[in-house]
Amino acid sequence: MPELPEVERVRLTLLPLLAGRRIEKVRVAETRLRAPVDARALRRAAAGKHILGLRRRAKYLLVDLEGEKILLMHLGMTGRFRIVRAGSRDQVHDHVALALDDGNEVRYNDARRFGLVQVLARGEEAIHPRLRDLGPEPLGAGFGPATLATSARARRRPIKTLLTDATVVAGIGNIYACEVLHAAGIHPGRTASSLSPRRRERLVASIRSLLQEAIAFGGTTLRDFVDAGGEAGQYGEKLRVYGRESEPCETCGRRVRRIVQAGRSTFYCPGCQH
Ligand SMILES: [Zn+2]
Repeated sequence: MPELPEVERVRLTLLPLLAGRRIEKVRVAETRLRAPVDARALRRAAAGKHILGLRRRAKYLLVDLEGEKILLMHLGMTGRFRIVRAGSRDQVHDHVALALDDGNEVRYNDARRFGLVQVLARGEEAIHPRLRDLGPEPLGAGFGPATLATSARARRRPIKTLLTDATVVAGIGNIYACEVLHAAGIHPGRTASSLSPRRRERLVASIRSLLQEAIAFGGTTLRDFVDAGGEAGQYGEKLRVYGRESEPCETCGRRVRRIVQAGRSTFYCPGCQH
């Protein structure tokens, strides 16, 4: 499943290809995504309109359109974008196509169809049920050690579970939660409220540097994620604990352990995480 770095990578790849272009035609081949695609609303919102920008909120992409509409998109489990020349043959699972005024077509392809393509009114992103409860962006100014302290006081939950709660901080998924805790030397089962201010600061710094690094490397290659330019991410090779049960930790040599927290696998090193 694409996580924040992958989605940001898709945004960075698509932005120069989309910004300022006019959408000439909208084609919907399959409406059955996580929520049904309203083909008529999509055509009315997008056809003939310029693309003003492309934003990311947590793992959602928001396409700002000329006029009053926004396209809300989510890659779900297997969603990806392909840029092809207009008229080239559809691939299996190409569900939505936007033909641009430069002869290119953006195609949304999603084998498992857990993704999302929805039309919102401008401003609706602040109150939309899918977006309104999201916490601050981990790479944004609204997130810092104080955010974790406030949440920690409110909820005495394991720090790993807290980090993957999108209402506390938006978009840190299972893989990166494991990796940042390893980088910061924090045991995943520790309650957030037991962390000293210095360790909370170290955790926030690890979150920022790890996500930035993952974005630079193009994200992980788990499952069949491929970014908009068709390039596979390189970050998978750099994972230190995730998916490495019983392998020696590269930092201290102890074997990586797997436990289950809130129904998800957590990987950690008993040698360097306390
Ligand atoms: Zn270790």
